[in-house]
Amino acid sequence: MSVNTCSSVGIIGAGIQGVCIGLNLLKRNIPTTIFDSKDPGSMASYGNAGHFSPYAVLQLNRPDVLYDIPKMLFSSYGPLALKWNYIPKMIPWILGYLKNCNNKSMLHTAKYMHQILNLSLDAYDEIFQEFDITNLVEKKGIIYVWTNQNLKSRELEIKVRKDLGVEQKLLNTREILDLEPNLNPVFDAGAYYDYAYHAKDPGGIVKKIFELFIQRGGKFIKENVETVRQPTATETLIKTNNKEYKFEKSVIACGAFSKKFTDQLNEKIPLDTERGYHVHFKGMENLLTRPVIFLDRGFGLTPMNQGLRAVGTVELGGLKNPLSKKRIDYIVRCAKELLPQLKNYEDEWLGFRPTLPDFLPVLGPSKNNKNIVYAFGHHHLGWTLGAITGKVISGILANEKTNLDLSAYSSSRFN
Ligand SMILES: Cc1cc2nc3c(=O)[nH]c(=O)nc-3n(C[C@H](O)[C@H](O)[C@H](O)COP(=O)(O)OP(=O)(O)OC[C@H]3O[C@@H](n4cnc5c(N)ncnc54)[C@H](O)[C@@H]3O)c2cc1C
Repeated sequence: MSVNTCSSVGIIGAGIQGVCIGLNLLKRNIPTTIFDSKDPGSMASYGNAGHFSPYAVLQLNRPDVLYDIPKMLFSSYGPLALKWNYIPKMIPWILGYLKNCNNKSMLHTAKYMHQILNLSLDAYDEIFQEFDITNLVEKKGIIYVWTNQNLKSRELEIKVRKDLGVEQKLLNTREILDLEPNLNPVFDAGAYYDYAYHAKDPGGIVKKIFELFIQRGGKFIKENVETVRQPTATETLIKTNNKEYKFEKSVIACGAFSKKFTDQLNEKIPLDTERGYHVHFKGMENLLTRPVIFLDRGFGLTPMNQGLRAVGTVELGGLKNPLSKKRIDYIVRCAKELLPQLKNYEDEWLGFRPTLPDFLPVLGPSKNNKNIVYAFGHHHLGWTLGAITGKVISGILANEKTNLDLSAYSSSRFN
């Protein structure tokens, strides 16, 4: 174990990033306290699709997606939606996104996503050695299916992954049905990542990691954090609705809610949210063996303990707008298109992906307060990246050397 180079850390946020960072800090003998106003793992880290998807290097900042956006927006049956009342507030994000929708930026994002995604399963395997993952994690791969309608986009994805050395198996309809015989063959082809895992209970996994953190001496304070600041070179202060706590270093790991704190620190980081939805078809999880994602629809199905989870879509609408019934209807219709035997659903859920306009997370010290470290903005891949984020951020806090090039994740890219 490495030398204790930091006397204490306070982490704001007990999602998958916060608990993985906490566990890794305790491994380095650094006393750690996590703050959350809610129970650990009850936000995005609860309701996601549960894919551990180390192959997903390509994100939405792509020229081909940009051309499709107007068509998608004005179709009521599309994977992308807007809450128009929020759009004026989202202008900095939208402008940044448009700036990043080009080949160069797309490949830059893919390269630096690949750098950490490539280490993501090994990092989880280390954590999964520490508790029984039976009934929590399945290692049966993940399937993507698509129609012949957007073949140029599919070809681009396949090429970028190939160039980066990402393993992928292309399948025809027959081969997909051999793996998942209950699917309605409304697609023309697909890809299979047989080494991917999926979570049968993402919230339950966060809880297990959190329990390990507490058993090993970590502290949890269930309070709402109001401010974080670094008044001197050697101390940071986290102020909650109850009192102020002192740590040598602090971490902001609040997912989509992190912007409030970076604004306080006078950094203009254009973090916003891509809202996503899920419902459960109870008792129908046995219809599939593994997650299936329908790329044309921007949605997928994951067999989980709570039922078959239908999850996805991107809605731009901020943190405060209510759940959109139309988005739920969309997901339910897509689910029934793939599995017409589905009937009633339960548990309408809205969650917040934390996303930067270049689709890279922010990992590293804040610009003007080096003892406050950022760990947010993992967009569609925050579940996959939890364990590796825990390793990277705890290494930064403990002043360890790394072979990774972390410059692309720095907040200074926005200044
Ligand atoms: C619909 C959907 C599907 C997804 N599917 C996948 C997938 O299949 N694979 C994948 O890799 N990723 C997926 N993601 C993305 C992934 O879920 C997120 O990127 C990830 O969970 C973010 O983790 P986090 O710890 O940063 O944030 P969160 O899980 O949101 O946790 C942040 C925590 O901070 C706390 N907090 C906020 N403000 C305060 C405050 N002021 N004081 C105290 N506490 C505070 C919150 O209560 C919360 O517990 C999906 C996301 C969505 C929405």
